[in-house]
Amino acid sequence: MMKKWVSAAVVGIALLGGGASYAAEIELKLAHTWPKGFPLFGTSVDDYAALVSELSDGRITIEVDSRNKHKSAFGIFDFVKSGQYDIGQSASYYYGGKDPDTLFFTTMPFGMTAAEQTAWFYEGGGLELANEVYAKHGVEVMPGGNTGMQMGGWFRKEINSVDDLKGLKMRIPGFGGKVMAGVGAVPTNIPAGELFQALERGTIDALEWVGPSLDLRMGFHKVAPYYYSGWHEPSTELMYFFNAEKLASLPVWAQSVLRNAAKLTAYNMSTETFDASATNWSQISQEYPDVQVKQFPSEVIEALRASNASLIEAEVARSELAARIVASQQAYLEKARAWTKIGDKLFLDSVSE
Ligand code: CA
Repeated sequence: MMKKWVSAAVVGIALLGGGASYAAEIELKLAHTWPKGFPLFGTSVDDYAALVSELSDGRITIEVDSRNKHKSAFGIFDFVKSGQYDIGQSASYYYGGKDPDTLFFTTMPFGMTAAEQTAWFYEGGGLELANEVYAKHGVEVMPGGNTGMQMGGWFRKEINSVDDLKGLKMRIPGFGGKVMAGVGAVPTNIPAGELFQALERGTIDALEWVGPSLDLRMGFHKVAPYYYSGWHEPSTELMYFFNAEKLASLPVWAQSVLRNAAKLTAYNMSTETFDASATNWSQISQEYPDVQVKQFPSEVIEALRASNASLIEAEVARSELAARIVASQQAYLEKARAWTKIGDKLFLDSVSE
């Protein structure tokens, strides 16, 4: 049987002429949020397209458009919803203006770590809740890769009290920015290309970006030497968006390739990002010994926690679905954290200096 199949394939290629491969049976278009070739966030999407081609033996091809091409970094939700693109990759929390219930599926201040949140998505009902939100828009989603712990940001001056945050101008978008505003800081959003200059000139006093994986290439440590530990984005998860009608129209094997390639790509992206953070950080401590890693005083953390809690309370009151999502996250966090504390945390406490 096998020999016959191989012969047929050889004949097929011969008929197509000169070693040409079969034309793809399924041609899909994908749009992502990032500039072309943007490390990790963007390159992982190129890896996704290559993996889908490999796993489907060339029967599925994906044309990847970066924001250089489609010109709309935060248009991914609408692109996929409308069917203009079949697939998208972005972060869910960028679309709070389209549907506020999308806010919860990237990361939450004081929320789960990457290991905890990934378990919530796949084993704790998180992905089902995400798809309940996105189904209303004709979209199916899959996790797309995690940055791991994001640092609290680069500060020009030390923060010793809540008063030090009053009037502090900081680039910190999204829900974390709202939490900061709640304690008197002034959150702003500035395009990535202007961030270094804004920090250097004192237009802003502080900023958060990602972590060592992507921060150090931006040079922030040269002008703001205080690097604070994380609290607002403990596990930022990117996301793949599929036009649900298009996905359902494909053969079952193709749907399986697209979903499972997303899962493997997310795993690879998370691993590569962890490695990039470790590698970059191992270099900075030699190159910039003046950089100081800091933790906010407990007074500051308590104020941020209180601000966060009142914002979450408003979300719970806003919609029945938001209330269910928050309840699911809080219940899973409580269960998972008890294990993290006796596992990873006690291990680190007992073996670290
Ligand atoms: Ca960030």
